[in-house]
Amino acid sequence: MYSLRELYRIGMGPSSSHTIGPSTIARMFREEYPDMKFFKVFLFGSLGATGKGHFTDKAIETVLAPHKVEFVWQPEVVLTRHTNAMRIEGFKHESDKKPMCSKLYYSIGGGAVIEDGKDDTIQHVYPDNRMRDIQRFCNENNISLPEYVEKYEGVEIWDFCKEIWDTMNACIDRGLNATQKYLPAALLLERKAPRVFKTAMEESNPIVKNDALASAFALAVSEENASMGVMVTAPTCGSAGVLPGVLRYAQEVYNLPEETILKGLAVAGIIGLLAKHNASLSGAEVGCQGEIGVSTSMAAAAMCYFLGGTTDQIERAAEIAMEHSLGLTCDPIGGFVMIPCIERNANATLRAIHTASYAKVLAGSYRISYDEILHTMYETGLDMNAGYKETSIDGLAKYYDKLLDEDMKRREQLLY
Ligand code: SF4
Repeated sequence: MYSLRELYRIGMGPSSSHTIGPSTIARMFREEYPDMKFFKVFLFGSLGATGKGHFTDKAIETVLAPHKVEFVWQPEVVLTRHTNAMRIEGFKHESDKKPMCSKLYYSIGGGAVIEDGKDDTIQHVYPDNRMRDIQRFCNENNISLPEYVEKYEGVEIWDFCKEIWDTMNACIDRGLNATQKYLPAALLLERKAPRVFKTAMEESNPIVKNDALASAFALAVSEENASMGVMVTAPTCGSAGVLPGVLRYAQEVYNLPEETILKGLAVAGIIGLLAKHNASLSGAEVGCQGEIGVSTSMAAAAMCYFLGGTTDQIERAAEIAMEHSLGLTCDPIGGFVMIPCIERNANATLRAIHTASYAKVLAGSYRISYDEILHTMYETGLDMNAGYKETSIDGLAKYYDKLLDEDMKRREQLLY
């Protein structure tokens, strides 16, 4: 399995596969061909279908600036290796008929990219690829999951986790203190995090207060994500609010020290890495199961660790969270990472917190393992109709788009 450094990436929202991945590809291409002055970018499959709503073009233009970029949107072209495919052609002059260079890449989820025809060369740092092997190792050697992470990643992993946690926290704070009333894009969606946070601070019922706090933290990150803010993939941008929501909640409500929060980040990382290795983190490949499903498992595992859960109970929490995320589709309306994404992050945050306590009281009675549920999630995702996998064709996107067409111009006028 890869390092946590391949899971948690700091980058610009709103989508790890549609903004972080494509901007990484553009950077790679530009570094390889520094003399090119004009670029033609072909966006295939899901990148072509929802790239506009996900601001893929803006992310690529930012990297290739000041040079001009022409985009060719081809959602109907679905390549076999991965639906998020992107070709870049480089030209010496805009007037040239033929490109000087051309390369095909794939944005395979969570910000990871791969060039066509090349193998994955990223080093694996963990010898285990299954949760059952990790559990066995930890139980036989009487070590915790954070100790397992430190054993293979080295003690310097805690500096990395600190950087990740600081970035998550900064993102929460920006979202809570945002002064813009609306998110960018024509949906004219209100930023809710500041209002929910204020309500939480004034609430006297402790149950409502704590749930509102956790929701506000998750909303803050997701709204920053939708505004192209800087964030951490956890495991993706679209699902980036859940884990920070749970971590900040645990820190504030349970008064946990930072050292414990960093260990929770490591626990969640193992759960996310297993999903990356054995299934997929790509909404375009397996629907929202691979994004919010995995983030809920990661966050439930971290929360279970905070509650004093054993390695086996942590595995339980991750499994339960994924078992009840099976079949979760990706159908963002208008291609924007807003509806259902933002609220789904808040909802998943609450689910992760409650799943953690539930896993703690189950006392060892279970049938399905996290390894098995990941296998099931992947198969379910592959079986899912393409209209439910980040193409904005079916589901919520299908019906709401009618309304969107009618309202688009009026909303744009109001907003800009
Ligand atoms: S619906 Fe889920 S998978 Fe799709 S863009 Fe939103 S958060 Fe990502």
